[in-house]
Amino acid sequence: MLKVNGINAFYGKIQVLKSISLEVEEGSIVTILGANGAGKTTTMKTISGLLKPQAGSIQFQGQDVTGLRPDQLLRKGIALVPEGRQILSGMTVLENLEMGAYHRKDNEIDQDIKNVMERFPILEERQKQLGGTLSGGQQQMLAIARAILSKPKLLLLDEPSMGLAPLIVADIFKIIKEINEAGTTVLLVEQNARQALKISDYGYVLETGKMVAEGSSQKLLNDPRIMEAYLGRK
Ligand code: ATP
Repeated sequence: MLKVNGINAFYGKIQVLKSISLEVEEGSIVTILGANGAGKTTTMKTISGLLKPQAGSIQFQGQDVTGLRPDQLLRKGIALVPEGRQILSGMTVLENLEMGAYHRKDNEIDQDIKNVMERFPILEERQKQLGGTLSGGQQQMLAIARAILSKPKLLLLDEPSMGLAPLIVADIFKIIKEINEAGTTVLLVEQNARQALKISDYGYVLETGKMVAEGSSQKLLNDPRIMEAYLGRK
């Protein structure tokens, strides 16, 4: 579904991505692991169009989408839940959800908002509250729910578990799995490597801007070298 081929990305003169390639098969969950500063967020920004690659190509559903803008990619079915969630804190929960569907022209938006609220009852309960008054975990749910309302084929999630308490983290991973089972392909960036690999099919390991390892999630979970370097020794 997604094929990233040899992309380079720079901030000014500093090269942050060095010929990154990866593939995401339709229906799967793929995780990118890596330490702080490895280039995970930059990879997501490049795939979602926030940053233009200086070399290489990105194909989505057989089409070359290299260099397209985020709004163009959203229309093609690629939605990003950015690091740090970035919900609109001065707008209500309901308004945040409506923003997720702003580019849609179909008649199913109200029904989809209802469905999303059924899936996330806390958002229904708090629909009139300002986004900024929600807890971290609730804001993450709102950010994911908002992205779902764009009806993505591919959902990009940048560190969805960051800064959340362990019980909430477990909820978020469960929600990601459910979204995938309902038919959305997922590309996930995580530092919470063990839990991310447990719900995913395939993983890549990024180190200072280069892919240094890849394999089925099972294989990565059972690789002592990777476990030690990226997953801790638990
Ligand atoms: P983290 O988990 O800390 O977000 P990451 O793997 O997502 O790490 P990136 O955010 O992609 O890493 O950053 C990769 C490198 O690019 C880092 O060395 C970082 O300092 C640098 N970098 C990130 N954003 C910018 C920017 N806007 N301008 C200049 N350098 C940047």
